[in-house]
Amino acid sequence: MTDILKDIKDELPNLVSDAIFEAANIVIYTTNKDFFKNGESKIKEIVGKIKKRIELRADSKLLISADETEKTIRAIVPEDAEIDNIIFDSQRSSVIIEAKKPGLVIGKQGSILKDIKNSTMWLPTVRRSPAIHSKITEKIRSVLYANNTYRKKFLNDIGKKIYKEWNPDKKDIWVRLTYLGSGRQVGRSCLLLHTPNSRVLLDCGINPGIAEGKDRFPHLDVSEIGDLSSIDAIVLSHAHTDHSALIPYLYKMGYKGPVYMTEPTRDIASLLALDFVGVAFKQATSPIFRAEDVKDMVKHSICLNYGEVFDITPDIRITFYNAGHVIGSAVTHVNIGNGLHNFVYTADTNYRKTRLLDPAVNIFPRVETITLESTYGSKDDVLPPRHETEEKFVEIVKETIQNGGKVLLPELGLGHAQETLLRVEEAIRTGKLPEVPVYLDGMLWDITAIHTAYPDFLSSAVRNQIFQDNNPFTAGCFTKVGSPTERKEVIEGGPCIIIATSGMLVGGASVEYFKQLADNPKNIIIFGCYQAPNSLGRQVQEGNTHVKTDKEFGGDTIEVKMKVKTMNGLSAHSGRNDLMQYVSRMNPRPKKILLNHGEQSKCLDLASSLYKQNRVETFVPKNLETVRLK
Ligand SMILES: [Zn+2]
Ligand SMILES: [Zn+2]
Repeated sequence: MTDILKDIKDELPNLVSDAIFEAANIVIYTTNKDFFKNGESKIKEIVGKIKKRIELRADSKLLISADETEKTIRAIVPEDAEIDNIIFDSQRSSVIIEAKKPGLVIGKQGSILKDIKNSTMWLPTVRRSPAIHSKITEKIRSVLYANNTYRKKFLNDIGKKIYKEWNPDKKDIWVRLTYLGSGRQVGRSCLLLHTPNSRVLLDCGINPGIAEGKDRFPHLDVSEIGDLSSIDAIVLSHAHTDHSALIPYLYKMGYKGPVYMTEPTRDIASLLALDFVGVAFKQATSPIFRAEDVKDMVKHSICLNYGEVFDITPDIRITFYNAGHVIGSAVTHVNIGNGLHNFVYTADTNYRKTRLLDPAVNIFPRVETITLESTYGSKDDVLPPRHETEEKFVEIVKETIQNGGKVLLPELGLGHAQETLLRVEEAIRTGKLPEVPVYLDGMLWDITAIHTAYPDFLSSAVRNQIFQDNNPFTAGCFTKVGSPTERKEVIEGGPCIIIATSGMLVGGASVEYFKQLADNPKNIIIFGCYQAPNSLGRQVQEGNTHVKTDKEFGGDTIEVKMKVKTMNGLSAHSGRNDLMQYVSRMNPRPKKILLNHGEQSKCLDLASSLYKQNRVETFVPKNLETVRLK
């Protein structure tokens, strides 16, 4: 066993008062003012030797008081920066400055931050104040703050575990991947990555198309999983419930380890999980986990930025890259055994540029195996170009409005809905659509608020709009709707656009609107996202004139007289051609491709085409199958 902390202390005699881990990061505290201010080059030298990140902080003895620090910050930072909040994290000797114009807090080449650091001894970080206030983001931050002491120990323990067997030259390694869900289906994504030293779960979601029964959940009862405490880490690709919904349940069942994800994913996954609990209570069924378990997930979350290389176990190192699918979604590059095998878990990706996000990344340092989604994997799933679909969309919406009808857009609250908001906002702003009210119902308002808190995760175009105080999400055409009375007004009112969750007409406000609007042929429903087999959305999409709502919505038979339209070109997933290109343009080219997250015929079709095009080994695992990667 290498005692890496002791090695560092020995390199810095009499300068370190404490050295701890924050997960894979190493943090050292110093009581020496000079070293804190000017120790950078010495730290760099050690980082070069041990190849691990080290953060230098001032020991609490050096910190000037919070009051004094706040005064200093307000004196140094120009008023135009519009500071909204100054938050002290004394455990980490750091101070967070929330401002409307973060660039002005940073100063030229970080000069102002450096000033703050040197005069207060606190380590300053800057955050942009969100344009829309997000209750959940604030709640999460307060949970983390209230559990600071617990987290300090938790993160230090993870670090100890990672470095205990720290032995970068280990060669005798095998790698297995078990499909606990998402094999030949869309839903219940859950994979177990297994090496001699590590067990890591990649996602743990439900099958949202199935209301009840064991097929709703991944196969967590297999011997490979055994006791949940034997799982070392969970990696969450993005917040959609088919990937995230069961993670709080794992905490309820005794898992106490970390869950790695991006910050937007943490916030949105928590919001969706709390909604999951709320819906269960409304239906008077007992939820499979409680709000307390969602809190536990937050307490154990470790958030990474794109491109940040991070050890999560002694032999597994991950890096997140933009997946282009929804805000914060990640393609996870997994480096196993210090480069002995490189595996890429793409989860859900979009290789097309959308308004909201840049295309998925497919350039990596090294790749041997990838697992790729197949939602739109068959030859019939070639999606039309986005601009073409957008033009058609605007045309149809305009026609409906002019004929006095209403447009219902059932949307996934995450990703899809925000893309639609951007499209509609631009069409109204540029006069392509008349100035009609756009009603937003269901959870998508809260999720949109989280988007405004993390502009760095959005496409450069939207980011710039937000930075220039031109935030499209807060445009005047949007009205938030939530109560039954407000809904009634919308239904009884004039022509409008209604954007409501859920996307498949399975629960949520969209079903309520559908019930009320279906019998008027002037109205239209436009489907833009994936409709699971048997879901109400799928039945309507397939042209059934009589459909039955779920029990919770009265179980009535609805006659569908409204127009029904599907627009696949607006998907948050790659279409067939994009999936093929994602692989053919991947650098380096993978040697083996595993296909999942698609109906069976689509996975098989994509596998055979990828094989023919690239002459690489392809494989379509069934649920419960294990593939040896190395
Ligand atoms: Zn997704
Ligand atoms: Zn998915």
